[in-house]
Amino acid sequence: MFDSKNPQRTPISDLGEFGLIDHLVKNAKTKLSNTALAVGDDAALIDQGDHYTAISTDLLVEGVHFDLSYVPLKHLGYKSVVVNLSDIYAMNGMAEHITVGIAVSNRFPVEALEEIYEGIHLACERYNVDLVGGDTTASQSGLMISITATGRVEKGAEAKRSGAGDNDLIVVSGDVGGAYMGLQILEREKQVFLENPEMQPELGGHEYILERQLKPEARKDIVELLKGLDVQPTSMIDISDGLSSEILHLSKASGTQFNIYENKIPIDPSIYTLCEEFNMNTTTVALNGGEDYELLFTIKIGDHDKIKANPNLTVIGYVKGGSGANLITRDEKVIELKAQGFKHHG
Ligand code: ADP
Ligand code: MG
Repeated sequence: MFDSKNPQRTPISDLGEFGLIDHLVKNAKTKLSNTALAVGDDAALIDQGDHYTAISTDLLVEGVHFDLSYVPLKHLGYKSVVVNLSDIYAMNGMAEHITVGIAVSNRFPVEALEEIYEGIHLACERYNVDLVGGDTTASQSGLMISITATGRVEKGAEAKRSGAGDNDLIVVSGDVGGAYMGLQILEREKQVFLENPEMQPELGGHEYILERQLKPEARKDIVELLKGLDVQPTSMIDISDGLSSEILHLSKASGTQFNIYENKIPIDPSIYTLCEEFNMNTTTVALNGGEDYELLFTIKIGDHDKIKANPNLTVIGYVKGGSGANLITRDEKVIELKAQGFKHHG
């Protein structure tokens, strides 16, 4: 407990983001019989009898999660909704409602907020979600947007982080690393601009990765696809912090070992050229980049035939007894995957 007369000050960095959450909620026991799943997954699950309601909150803070010198406000509104919906889809459910909390300093005119809301409305339209409430307040230090999303998960369809079993296959949707490289381009052009405000940013040719960073999409389509293919993921998580970190979450929650192949990780071809330009390692970018909002999940090996022809899905490895996670490199070396700590830009 924090006692102001006898202050004991533990730096948050001693615990890290995930350690801090564990520390704060470790004694929080749930009381209600309908609390089916509490802290520790992409969304909580509330038992509604014939189905679950999934609930998830995300907070975006100026200077930590976004930089308004290059993030258009409309995109910001859109992205804040999408990152929340992504957590509902990660439970294998359909997002339905959101509430929006916004803290804003008086340096923002009404028009700026209108732009943010244009993006919020567009996302609601595109994902078939209703905005049903929120809160608005003044802020002394920049803009903050906190969104809570709820959704519907059918009983038996719920995909927790904890369900992966031996011999399951590890699957990822889309490709990874793009959002991080988009951020590198934006940061680079920002520096060029700061040094010489006459220079126009050179963003041409980087449309794909810029869109991955500025206007990501949540994989509602994958949840629908899996349902259509009659594939029930045994575990699932969305890729917000990076493939490596999410793999470790699944491995830890499931109590099994995850093994992925370096040469199977889906990466857009443009990333290879860019990584050379930035002198970065493509695999490191793909593993630790983050913000891709793809779905990472496991399936029973018997379901492989149902998904193997699908260009949106890539099998990247397998689960086996044990713990932790390994990367099997192109030259067949086995490297242990490590967790990342706080991983936000800004
Ligand atoms: P995600 O990346 O999917 O949004 P997080 O890593 O932010 O998930 O959070 C991990 C888990 O911890 C989630 O179940 C979330 O609800 C919970 N959590 C995060 N912050 C808090 C908090 N301040 N109090 C209670 N639970 C929290
Ligand atoms: Mg998540």
